[in-house]
Amino acid sequence: MEYLYCEKMNRQLCFNGSYIYACTVGNNTKSNSNLIIKENYNGEPIDAEQFFVEREQIKLDAKNGKIPENCEGCHYLQLRDWDNVAADRKIDYILISNYKRCNSRCIYCISRTDYNPKKDKNPETYNIIPVIKDMIDKGYVSEDTKFDFAGGECTLYPYFEELLTLLINSGIKNIIIHSNAIIYSKAIENGIKTGMVSLCVSTDSGRKRTHEKIKGVRTYDKVWKNIKKYNKSKSQQTNNSVSVKYIVVENVNDNEKEIYDWLRKVKKSGIKTVRFNADNDIFIKYQNDKNYNHPYLAKIIVLTEFFVKCAQVYDIKYELDYNVDAAYKMLNIKKPDCFGY
Ligand code: SF4
Ligand code: SF4
Repeated sequence: MEYLYCEKMNRQLCFNGSYIYACTVGNNTKSNSNLIIKENYNGEPIDAEQFFVEREQIKLDAKNGKIPENCEGCHYLQLRDWDNVAADRKIDYILISNYKRCNSRCIYCISRTDYNPKKDKNPETYNIIPVIKDMIDKGYVSEDTKFDFAGGECTLYPYFEELLTLLINSGIKNIIIHSNAIIYSKAIENGIKTGMVSLCVSTDSGRKRTHEKIKGVRTYDKVWKNIKKYNKSKSQQTNNSVSVKYIVVENVNDNEKEIYDWLRKVKKSGIKTVRFNADNDIFIKYQNDKNYNHPYLAKIIVLTEFFVKCAQVYDIKYELDYNVDAAYKMLNIKKPDCFGY
């Protein structure tokens, strides 16, 4: 039997500040919020068995036509026969974003708390390691579970290196780290060498002035130097493990010249993989447009098509991230295939 449902509701844990969400892409829903699993969370043990019991109820409700309120209108809901899809009790994806300190000041940031190295001596958040270790030990997390470190800045999280080492030693094969690359981390470098860690750095421009306008700090040269150093540490077998990202920001880097300059810089730096996304704010800003036909969404499509064309010419692999994906879905236009994936 076909019904409207989304797999993310059931098999993801997103540790985000003091919340655990099922996903973090709820910005495209009617409520503009994510499906909450726990709030006021501070690192307490998780009863994974209970979690799956609750999730099964959500799936059953979906089968009976009742979608959680926070998911209503989401573009990721799909009509299909879900009954036999991934029925085992495994977590597919874990987002580690409980820490929020950052040494960057990005215009598009939705989560950071500013970092002051002189004052900030104590961790501002809980140690997540016992929770993750428990799930690994009990088999809810397997080597195929994808781990994603997002912001704040992971290199400022006091438990980062220990956690990364635990994941690598547990054989987790797919660990994605989003870092601003202002601080060079030996632990990330070692992870890249194992082939289990992929690093993604948002640089957003190939020009110093624009980069610093978006990031709010003067770190352009240092960041590109660190990216190149990380890139050199990968082995032949882990060719795609360092990527850079471009996030389109309205009235700052939303033009073809910036995109072209950025790709040229990427090519010169020897990076083989890029990602393209758009600032979250555009969805918050334009979601009230009931027909989803705001000209800015169309502009994102035009810029994406330009980006795709240039990346192909430069023979750089690319991926289109969820806000770009959402623009295509909203305007009901077919998204270009990802190149090289
Ligand atoms: S339906 Fe949308 S908001 Fe709900 S869990 Fe899935 S992706 Fe997240
Ligand atoms: S690097 Fe990430 S966490 Fe830091 S300010 Fe930028 S977007 Fe926010």
